[in-house]
Amino acid sequence: MSAIILEGTKIAAEIRAEAALAARSLSARGVRPGLAVVLAGDNPASEIYVRGKVKSCQEVGIYSEKHTPGAGVSTQELLALVAGLNARDEIDGILVQLPLPPQIDSKRVLLAVDPAKDVDGFHPLNVGFLSTERPGLVPCTPAGIMELLVRSGIALAGREAVVIGRSFIVGKPMAMLLLNANATVSVCHSKTRDLAEVSRRADILVAAIGRAGMVRREFVRPGATVVDVGMNRVSDEEEFRRLFAGDDRREDSFRTKGSILVGDVHPEVAEVAGAMTPVPGGVGPLTIAMLMANTVKAAGMRRGSGVAELSRV
Ligand code: NAP
Repeated sequence: MSAIILEGTKIAAEIRAEAALAARSLSARGVRPGLAVVLAGDNPASEIYVRGKVKSCQEVGIYSEKHTPGAGVSTQELLALVAGLNARDEIDGILVQLPLPPQIDSKRVLLAVDPAKDVDGFHPLNVGFLSTERPGLVPCTPAGIMELLVRSGIALAGREAVVIGRSFIVGKPMAMLLLNANATVSVCHSKTRDLAEVSRRADILVAAIGRAGMVRREFVRPGATVVDVGMNRVSDEEEFRRLFAGDDRREDSFRTKGSILVGDVHPEVAEVAGAMTPVPGGVGPLTIAMLMANTVKAAGMRRGSGVAELSRV
């Protein structure tokens, strides 16, 4: 058996097209959705992600601006920057790209973002809205995975879902979304005993670990849907050989580029799973598409009925 590949790229294009339509209808009412991205320091991976986000804004019809304080920025300076963005009416979404430089109190900075502009959905108020099933802004990566599952016709209600990873960015909100969709959810982490055995219970397995190729064949129940969130750059030759010995296609790519981007799920899982997402081209594009959708949603909520919902707590 070979798994059906769930193309995130295609569904992400659909979501972007829908966001563009909504942005146009807001623009017709004199509201151009606006996103401010804060990119502090000089993390090369973050620079690539932010470039993709800004490009996507142009395609969807969202105004965007980028703020790039240097690596030596202080928490106070970032708080002042965020306060300024909170106060500007034409900015509907504020994205603080993580990780922030090590001297920064990241939690304080994220807490300072106006919850109505919190397009990453990390503010405790939005976390609370998600867990109480009220309208709010939902973290982009797990929201994108839900879109992928639903639009691909993967049934969730009454099914076993296992999420590996409990970060506030992916694992926890993913578990909450699956629970809200009536799946029976287990959340695993680095202290979980018998990880492979727990994972094998899953009809839907989501891997958000940050360990290249960790999820092997024995983690997966035959026919399960496997979502690979991991984005790991492997540049060590020995690690590459351990993971992909005999894989000529990846070998060529590794030789040419000196490194390769791999997920948390080993490619051998395709022989057991019923459906799985690729890396790249799976969850990554969905994350950016949901950022566009969240920015348009925030613009609408700040000016429509959602405002009352957000300010009630
Ligand atoms: P994170 O904050 O480092 O969390 C990783 C989680 O995995 C933690 O809960 C950790 O457990 C768990 N874990 C680590 N080693 C484990 C092991 N050996 N066995 C079981 N659990 C283990 O990472 P994250 O931000 O959630 O991201 C996870 C991965 O997704 C990364 O590769 C990241 O690059 C990728 N990502 C991709 C996108 C995208 O758009 N495609 C978006 C976000 C993240 P503990 O809590 O016990 O430490």
